[in-house]
Amino acid sequence: MPTPIISKRAPIYADVPDEKWNDWRWQLSHRLNTAEDIEKVIALTDSERKALQTQGLFRVDVTPYFISLIDPEDPNDPVRKQIIPVSEELNAFTSMMEDSLAEDRHSPVPGLVHRYPDRVLMLVTTQCASYCRYCTRSRIVGDPGQTFNRQDFELQIEYLKRTPQVRDVLLSGGDPLVLAPKILEELLTRLREIPHIEIVRIGSRVPVFMPMRITQELCDMLAKFHPLWLNIHVNHPNEISKELAEACDRMTRAGIPLGNQSVLLAGVNDCVHMQRELVQKLTRIRVRPYYLYQCDLVEGSGHFRTPVAKGIEIIEGLRGHTSGYAVPQFIVDAPGGGGKIPVMPNYLLSMSDHKVIVRNYEGFVTSYEEPTEYKSHDPKTCKFCLSKRPEPGQAGLTGLLDGEQMFIKPQGFDELHERGGLQHRLKDENKWKPLGIGSSEPTE
Ligand SMILES: *Cc1c(COP(=O)(O)O)cnc(C)c1O
Repeated sequence: MPTPIISKRAPIYADVPDEKWNDWRWQLSHRLNTAEDIEKVIALTDSERKALQTQGLFRVDVTPYFISLIDPEDPNDPVRKQIIPVSEELNAFTSMMEDSLAEDRHSPVPGLVHRYPDRVLMLVTTQCASYCRYCTRSRIVGDPGQTFNRQDFELQIEYLKRTPQVRDVLLSGGDPLVLAPKILEELLTRLREIPHIEIVRIGSRVPVFMPMRITQELCDMLAKFHPLWLNIHVNHPNEISKELAEACDRMTRAGIPLGNQSVLLAGVNDCVHMQRELVQKLTRIRVRPYYLYQCDLVEGSGHFRTPVAKGIEIIEGLRGHTSGYAVPQFIVDAPGGGGKIPVMPNYLLSMSDHKVIVRNYEGFVTSYEEPTEYKSHDPKTCKFCLSKRPEPGQAGLTGLLDGEQMFIKPQGFDELHERGGLQHRLKDENKWKPLGIGSSEPTE
């Protein structure tokens, strides 16, 4: 039997009338953010109380709906850990960074991150419905004095208009769905006026923190801007409530394909069996698991980090074991702005010039005989090959495979490998002897 999808409300909210509880404005204005407030719902640990009383901590705020999902008896509750700070947040760790993905360096105009050839990330607000303790953008998110900025928005639109290779705009922040409905609609309207923008995507945790925001009215508005895609952010099966299921149903009925992005977090979802339950529960509410991220090297999240191997182990436990639709891609977002890198178990064990040896999820090993004669399509006449060339410098390994380039060199490679020349010069001047000459001679 599948686990039931249920509705929860913490006892202190028992007397709140349904029309208030189900009103997203009520949820936003009744968020909890102090030790005193939160203690009315769950008994705080010393570590949590200390963190909540620390000045300068990343913003705390949680909706009454979301805090109700916590089991108040369990200090290790997986929902609790995501939104209640602990004193470990104050600990520094090696290679911790403020902007670990180097987003600021990839921003042609404020709030627009153009990292990949055909798509951009657009940060439209710094506000969220609740704040995840491991937020990768805690350097900018949460600042109450700064929300939607019209001047930056106009600069972003101008950049998009003059950059025709951008066909996909990903709205994020902060959370685009906390914007005032009128502003969100204007934003989408302005994006849709740009003919080369083919798809718009929204990354939002509002359906998870505050599913009552996903009203039919909002869905009708969003449906005017198709093709529109939306990724939610669920980390643990306990977040999949009746309210979230209904919100997702409204969105998918409005024609919005839904995906999920999770972050792999120690003590929250670093369990293969829990992940299997999570992805199966997501597909039941018609949400396709998209990415599972390795935790970024961001300040305050050291205690959430897992070895990369944990993510590989999770994918090993999903692929083949459950529906392919339910298996996300495990991603390490490379520090320093390298972008998203998929990492997975090895299924290709060996190969020869005519065979590959592969294994399946059960450990069954097989050989696949390759064709002895392969007649490829003709790239010289293929209209796709002829017209869809990557931007210069962005072809990557594809450029090596199709013969456009023979090698990719790290920066400074040529200078470094002038060494050979340098050694000969020095030897001629008799100032240098290569290691090995002399010492490698027999000593007898
Ligand atoms: C994640 C991200 C995207 C979108 O990546 P997809 O793999 O296409 O989902 C685009 N731009 C930036 C800067 C990103 O971080």
